Amino acid sequence: MKILVINSGSSSLKYQLIDMETENVLAKGLCERIGIANSNFVYKAHGQTIEQQIDMPTHEAAVKIVLDTLTDKRVGVIKSMDEIDGVGHRVVASGEAFKKPTLVTPEAMKLMEEIKDLAPLHNPAAIVGVNACLAQMPHTPMVLVFDTGFHFTMPDYAYMYAVDYSHYEKYKIRRYGAHGTSHKYVAEEAAKYLGKDLCDLKIITCHLGNGSSITAVKGGKCVDTSMGFTPLAGVPMGTRSGDIDFAAAEYIAEKEGMDVSEMLTYLNKKCGMLGISGVSSDFRDLSAAAEEGNDRARLALDMFAYATKKYIGSYAAVLNGVDVIVFTAGIGENDDKVRAASLKDMEYLGVKLDDYKNAHCPRGTVAEIQADDSRVKVLVIPTNEELVIARETVQEAKLA
Ligand code: AMP
Repeated sequence: MKILVINSGSSSLKYQLIDMETENVLAKGLCERIGIANSNFVYKAHGQTIEQQIDMPTHEAAVKIVLDTLTDKRVGVIKSMDEIDGVGHRVVASGEAFKKPTLVTPEAMKLMEEIKDLAPLHNPAAIVGVNACLAQMPHTPMVLVFDTGFHFTMPDYAYMYAVDYSHYEKYKIRRYGAHGTSHKYVAEEAAKYLGKDLCDLKIITCHLGNGSSITAVKGGKCVDTSMGFTPLAGVPMGTRSGDIDFAAAEYIAEKEGMDVSEMLTYLNKKCGMLGISGVSSDFRDLSAAAEEGNDRARLALDMFAYATKKYIGSYAAVLNGVDVIVFTAGIGENDDKVRAASLKDMEYLGVKLDDYKNAHCPRGTVAEIQADDSRVKVLVIPTNEELVIARETVQEAKLA
């Protein structure tokens, strides 16, 4: 059985074709600059990469190029489109309209339209992506898989904001979280790796990438997560502020003459590591600058590790202890200095890193980096959000 996973952005479309028997990726790639001049198509299969400038005026044109290439006699990996048993679509925001992966139907797509403005940059793109695939594959089952889905097990006292309750009732203002597929995947992989039942474990999963979120997982279920109504909340990120006193934002807006929408763009795009350092949002650039003596780059990195540590500590309190801490995503998987700084002085919690194992952690595989006498296991696990989307697609479309 083969599942196509689609992740649509406003001018991009990422795809992976996964063989579900082996869970191997048969082909993957990216369509960039859709609807803009110089569209770019990237296709990786058979250990080779093809990159071409192809005109892609619409998402539909992009999907057609993906399907034509997947079935191409020379470079393709399948004989015909009929070999694609289902399509899983990543969707950023669900509101309370979708609490689990959902089969694409006219009713589901109507609901998707209704919640479009919950993630104005991302959800409309997902709708365009679904429609583009439906146009090419009208009879193939498709499933919407939401970044928020894993977090619906949070108790009400964790997901509510202390605002006028009627605003929750009217507008569903609450914490939804994000990166749910990643947190779910690494929590399950951690249990598998340790040979333990997920139901018996208290896990803190740290998805640290350009966007970062931290989740408390008890018995395989999310009980709290650091992102909020949108992915702006939590630890400071590449360009996002993370948690901030709203009155401080209002004060800046007042002084700088920004309206609400400009303020949100500022908090999402110009703050975080970039805003503090003035150097970059990329952790590799920040490390290099800090090593050369740039004190604002040092400060940005210190703030990130401190915020991560605070979330880990608070989630240990929420969970009544912790058995496993997992690091994943671009920074979590690759940046040993961030891991070390985030877990510094946590012996009281039973957390102790092995500095050598942390610094020499192999890439692309599950690795244990805690000291021999650490009560808590610390794991680095490469995330695989596409695989979770493909698995959920098989389950929801009842393909198995
Ligand atoms: P992601 O959003 O998961 O792709 O993660 C992007 C972030 O991971 C960027 O800040 C990168 O600087 C960081 N990153 C990727 N590779 C490395 C690496 N080898 N060392 C340190 N940071 C890395």
